[in-house]
Amino acid sequence: MEDGKPVWAPHPTDGFQLGMIVDIGAGALTIEPFNRKGKTFLASMNQVFPAEEDVNKHMEDNCSLMYLNEGTLLNNVRVRYSKDKIYTYVANILIAVNPYYDIPKLYAPETIKSYQGRSLGTLPPHVYAIADKAYRDMRVLKMSQSIIVSGESGAGKTENTKFVLRYLTTSYGTGQDIDERIVQANPLLEAFGNAKTVRNNNSSRFGKFVEIHFNEKSKVVGGFVSHYLLEKSRICMQSKEERNYHIFYRLCAGASEDIRQRLHLDSPDSFRHVKLGALKDPLLDDQGDFNRMCGAMKKIGLDDTEKLDLFRVVAGVLHLGNIDFEETGSTSGGCILMNQSSQKLAYCADLLGLDQEDLRVSLTTRVMLTTAGGAKGTVIKVPLRVEQANNARDAMAKAVYSCLFDHVVRRVNQCFPFKTSSNFIGVLDIAGFEYFEHNSFEQFCINYCNEKLQQFFNERILKEEQELYQREGLGVNEVHYVDNQDCIDLVEAKLVGILDILDEENRLPQPSDHHFANTIHSQHKDHFRLTVPRKSKLAVHRNVRDDEGFIVRHFAGAVCYETIQFVEKNNDALHMSLESLVCESKDKFVRELFENSNNSKDSKQKAGKLSFISVGNKFKTQLNLLLEKLRSTGSSFIRCVKPNLKMVSHQFEGAQILSQLQCSGMVSVLDLMQGGFPSRAPFHELYNMYKQYMPDKLTRLDPRLFCKALFKALGLNENDYKFGLTRVFFRPGKFAEFDQIMKSDP
Ligand code: ADP
Ligand code: MG
Repeated sequence: MEDGKPVWAPHPTDGFQLGMIVDIGAGALTIEPFNRKGKTFLASMNQVFPAEEDVNKHMEDNCSLMYLNEGTLLNNVRVRYSKDKIYTYVANILIAVNPYYDIPKLYAPETIKSYQGRSLGTLPPHVYAIADKAYRDMRVLKMSQSIIVSGESGAGKTENTKFVLRYLTTSYGTGQDIDERIVQANPLLEAFGNAKTVRNNNSSRFGKFVEIHFNEKSKVVGGFVSHYLLEKSRICMQSKEERNYHIFYRLCAGASEDIRQRLHLDSPDSFRHVKLGALKDPLLDDQGDFNRMCGAMKKIGLDDTEKLDLFRVVAGVLHLGNIDFEETGSTSGGCILMNQSSQKLAYCADLLGLDQEDLRVSLTTRVMLTTAGGAKGTVIKVPLRVEQANNARDAMAKAVYSCLFDHVVRRVNQCFPFKTSSNFIGVLDIAGFEYFEHNSFEQFCINYCNEKLQQFFNERILKEEQELYQREGLGVNEVHYVDNQDCIDLVEAKLVGILDILDEENRLPQPSDHHFANTIHSQHKDHFRLTVPRKSKLAVHRNVRDDEGFIVRHFAGAVCYETIQFVEKNNDALHMSLESLVCESKDKFVRELFENSNNSKDSKQKAGKLSFISVGNKFKTQLNLLLEKLRSTGSSFIRCVKPNLKMVSHQFEGAQILSQLQCSGMVSVLDLMQGGFPSRAPFHELYNMYKQYMPDKLTRLDPRLFCKALFKALGLNENDYKFGLTRVFFRPGKFAEFDQIMKSDP
């Protein structure tokens, strides 16, 4: 960078602003912004980046720019977004900005057609191009592929995932039912697993990996969905402007009179578990969505009985939520149902196939096995206090609903069965790195997951790059990057990892969040990745002790987790009496919901106290299986970006976007590429592109010699490019420079 040349310097809201260096001090640069002459400011050296000569120019592949840095990347994405070009490549990685409106023709059938069989880069960047690359790689390499879609809530992950599924089934399906079913499974999954949040009106509250399977002729034969971590807390509790899962409102709004009567439905505001959040949203059409959902159910082959089974359990959960308790007033403590609640209890018992009296007892007492006096297993019933009974009720609602969700996914999987498959393309739609004002167990799990995915991303992008250099005989230095294995170990290591420490806490007779936090800190006193939060950080908003939390230094930034409720959220077990109650339901459907959830078996064996089923370790196992799978496939990455917090079109909030690009590891990729050879072109492509500008004598050479002669004739600097075996590699921006010379100076 030199005086007088344009640079990108930090800007609080735009991310970067264009300016000029007017003075270079010891630790800082003095910058004069272009649009506010005379108003200089200081910026540290590592925050200022060289800008392109023409800042209005944009490139489909960011690597074709002269300078690869966060300033030019943000600007490239910004200029493109302003022209409705929401997709941009950084080499093979696709950046997708959410336009928040339907861009005409962007996903039209003819657009699908145009991308079929076309190499990446021959047409404008598109999610379809990535889908087609995955498909072609699968065919050519005879290897399964995965597409990893990431980004924060509302960035467009789920929409882009659906575009990929739609593209692959329309392009490479057999034209049979199965193609449509793979697409139509989504509305059902979304009805039960999506909700309105402040960040997204249709926010997926679970992660999923959707596999499309292909036969030896590379035609679609079936599909398979795996799901991860449904957010359970939402079933009983929502923030002010959020809602419970869509299905609750849709059922209340859309069910026929006949069903309403059978399920004793009423308007949502009469049900505790749904009226806590926002009831009505002008942007949501619950009745219309109900009809669309029923349409999708029909298309994937659910009959009326199955549909009613689902609705019955949803209604059961609603009525369960309306059961209230009050103190008995007797000396034994304990509580009884409030008068008005008997009717609700009856509805709930009826809908879930339970005995009313058993349900009442199970909600208000807890069975304990005593081992007093050596006598094995005397059963005693301990009365519950009002607060405990409320917890039991909510735990049951969460358990029933999450078993129902598991069932929905299982049922969906039966819609596109396949006997054999040669290969699959899997699409991962899972929440990106997140940190809020308050971060709890859910954020901890998500960020742990993102550490693993980031490691995979590094492995793939950097490894692939190095392998390519090697294959082409380039002999460049190895690329180094920050390995985050230490952070992953901090979470998942045996015994000393945070997840295992948490499980240990759960197994104590009297587990406590406070003790858990202390154990972590004493175990990892000097861990680079872990620190104790400063007093103020936790105590400001809530009345919590300052050590009830821990800070993890993630690859994308430090996050402070509040340990309150960690112990509770880590336990998937219902208390004994409730567990056996639902497992013995007279209703076959309800019974099977619980029989099929793998939780029930071991919890039944561990009678006596509240049994424990670890949420964290189950997730760890699932995640490691997923990564094993991803590692066995070829991979592509889509980084989704949310342009603004208002969820509106045509508004580009630079600083927000920059932080997303940093969190997703894109900025590190640029650093890597800036030091390497980001643009490359096969000899024959260059030959075909430029032969028209060359004299006949040259065009008679073979493509490799042609390129050599051409470069020599142009007097290109030998540091700017390297010849591999099949292609030329260019230093950042040098290809664009070369192309310019060629076209302007024939
Ligand atoms: P995420 O899954 O990342 O949380 P979604 O995919 O649900 O985000 O997107 C949120 C909303 O943004 C969608 O409901 C839709 O309204 C809008 N949206 C996302 N991607 C697009 C797109 N490519 N074109 C138009 N609207 C989009
Ligand atoms: Mg989503």
